[in-house]
Amino acid sequence: MTKTRYRYNLILTILLLTGFIFTSWFSLIIAKQSLFNGIENDALPLTSHLIHTDLQKQLQAPIIISAQMAHNTFLHAWLIDNKENKQLLFEYLRQTRREFGAVTGFLVTSDDQKYYRYDGETSDLDTQSTQDQWYQETLESPNPYTLNVDLDPRDDHQAVVFVNHKIQHKGQVLGVTGVGVKLDHLKRLIDKYQHTYDRKVYFIDHKGRLLFYNDSTFTDATLTDKFGIHSTKLLNQNNYKLRLEQDKKTIFINSRYLEQFGWYLVVEQTLTQDKSFSDTLYINLFMGVVITAVILASAQLTFNHYQKRLEKMATFDKLTNTHNRQAFEPLLQKALHKARTQFTPLTMLILDVDHFKQVNDEHGHLAGDKVLAQVAQVCKSVVKSRGVTCRWGGEEFVILLPKTTLDNGYELAQQIHDELNKSPCEVKVTASIGIAQYHVDESEDGLLKRADAALYRAKSTGRNRTVLAEAA
Ligand code: GH3
Ligand code: MG
Ligand code: MG
Repeated sequence: MTKTRYRYNLILTILLLTGFIFTSWFSLIIAKQSLFNGIENDALPLTSHLIHTDLQKQLQAPIIISAQMAHNTFLHAWLIDNKENKQLLFEYLRQTRREFGAVTGFLVTSDDQKYYRYDGETSDLDTQSTQDQWYQETLESPNPYTLNVDLDPRDDHQAVVFVNHKIQHKGQVLGVTGVGVKLDHLKRLIDKYQHTYDRKVYFIDHKGRLLFYNDSTFTDATLTDKFGIHSTKLLNQNNYKLRLEQDKKTIFINSRYLEQFGWYLVVEQTLTQDKSFSDTLYINLFMGVVITAVILASAQLTFNHYQKRLEKMATFDKLTNTHNRQAFEPLLQKALHKARTQFTPLTMLILDVDHFKQVNDEHGHLAGDKVLAQVAQVCKSVVKSRGVTCRWGGEEFVILLPKTTLDNGYELAQQIHDELNKSPCEVKVTASIGIAQYHVDESEDGLLKRADAALYRAKSTGRNRTVLAEAA
């Protein structure tokens, strides 16, 4: 029984724990997956979209102003009329810059490639230098304008966006003019994403150059350093999603090509291996262990309860609540062994209800049952802890009295007769008893036979009496 129970407990524990481990682990994977999907498919594209919209909004005005400058009749006249009155040009640039609130206003002449700035400064353009590369790119661009970004090292590397608009006259490019603006609002927006969601936002031009960003540590890194083989894919696709696993970190990258500007907008988010994931796993497992323990404990209680009931059912006669024959057998053997080895007296009574058949016939079977229960109750109350009462079969009981002599046994038998006689039950019965004391040389059967023979004599000599067995 204990072995079966042990096996059952083991199987139950294994089943429950594996169940808990699997469900915890599985739900964690699902949660992680949905978090990743949320970042990849919702959060980053949305950030990208919002930044793009903001950028469009902020660049709209400088693009319009630059276009107006490029179509301005004064500028056209000035360029065509041999650029005589420079003070007038500077005044125009200054005024445009002031009215619009730009960082700078400028004009580049295409014939002599001179750079005129709003503050009266004039310089020669060096088209070979990377610094002035934008000019060539603007001329070569199919669009009327290009956007170029410079970082201002004097102002926290703030990005200044230049709108470079071509001035065209009769199919000829006379020069390039425009304004430079600081994208303050965009910077604030990007900073917000950085601080609130730990998202990096940066722009890359079509040559893979970093334009501006909100992470100053990024200054020296090139695109290839950062994305390896993915950098070419990133520059070749309008929309590109990337997930990199690096040093226990997951990096999500979302890039989109902004056609209007010729830039790539990249939003990046890094997830460090979240401690809360493993914490949740441990909590789930702990709960699993607790629940397993509770289930095991309640299973043990149920087990014990049913085991006790089974044991009782197997040992006791239900009607009379006395030992049944099966349970009595080992008790008898044990008592005989004790009597033999310890030389203590042992007495046995066999009791049979008189004319019990008549009780059944006259009062019915149920009344008969009640009488049997009553007789058993009388036997037990007389015997108490001095012995064991057993329902031997039908209306017959055997009472085993260890450490009891024949005389004492006889006294108890008389008490049983008396009690039956005094019984307040509506159906009164008497009983015949055969009594024998065990003899050390005697077998179990021998003792029973002698007691049975005494009972037979009690019956045949008038019933309602106790007859002593003959000596063994
Ligand atoms: P005697 O005095 O010679 O012992 O006569 P008796 O009628 O008691 O003996 P007999 O052996 O002829 O009848 C015993 C009856 O006991 C027969 C049987 O139907 C009845 N009996 C046996 N077990 C039960 C039981 O569990 N409940 C009831 N109600 N009757 C039982
Ligand atoms: Mg009988
Ligand atoms: Mg009888």
